[in-house]
Amino acid sequence: MNVVLLGAPGAGKGTQATALTKLLGVVHVASGDLFRRALSKNTELGLLAKSYMDKGELVPDEVTIEMVLERIREPDCAAGVLFDGFPRTLSQAEALDDRLAVEGKAIDKAVYIEVSEEALVKRLSGRWICRDCQTPYHAESSPPRVSGRCDVCGGELYQRADDREETVRERLKVFFSQTLPIVDYYERQGKLLRVDGNQGIDEVSAAIRSQLQVESA
Ligand code: ADP
Ligand code: AMP
Repeated sequence: MNVVLLGAPGAGKGTQATALTKLLGVVHVASGDLFRRALSKNTELGLLAKSYMDKGELVPDEVTIEMVLERIREPDCAAGVLFDGFPRTLSQAEALDDRLAVEGKAIDKAVYIEVSEEALVKRLSGRWICRDCQTPYHAESSPPRVSGRCDVCGGELYQRADDREETVRERLKVFFSQTLPIVDYYERQGKLLRVDGNQGIDEVSAAIRSQLQVESA
């Protein structure tokens, strides 16, 4: 099964992804995580991505598409992928469809987590991320058990530079102008499922499971 998680920055895609990948038996592929990992290794790709990420802009399609398509060629992705943060433009969505079609595969469903703009800004300004495994936390809605440490792997938590309010506003603008059209793209294909993301984390998980018609383990 191949599923796309759609939603503005801060909608809760990363938060929902871990449990959902286990439930679906697929691999989590988050383009933002791939860029941050490349940057932590100081690769050319990471440094190029940083120049866009710092401004809240999208990394150019050619670079992003190549990176993600290369990732999904790896054997662990054969059983299916949960895409998070990709596609973000129509060209990315079309490139992904073309690539999957070559293998006789397709995106089965796109889950759109809808959250009000006001809540998005609050979520991003209180977000903490694990430096090692990228699990997201929130000072109020989802605090770690031990302050500053990841519950999953014990890694150090940090606040992303692009979660500053000024950059957040730019990222939201980019979402509404460049990414929102792909909601229509999947709707036209009859693949779109909408979830109210303004609820608590557990309620959102339950709504996603219900839309995808999968039971919790
Ligand atoms: P995305 O991956 O879509 O950018 P995240 O999953 O990182 O978003 O979530 C953004 C922030 O909001 C994180 O700090 C996370 O802990 C918090 N969060 C996620 N889902 C909810 C929710 N349903 N209610 C409140 N806070 C949430
Ligand atoms: P995210 O972790 O999904 O919030 O992404 C962080 C940043 O990485 C974005 O603001 C973009 O600069 C870049 N990025 C992540 N995914 C993509 C994508 N699919 N296309 C272009 N840029 C991306």
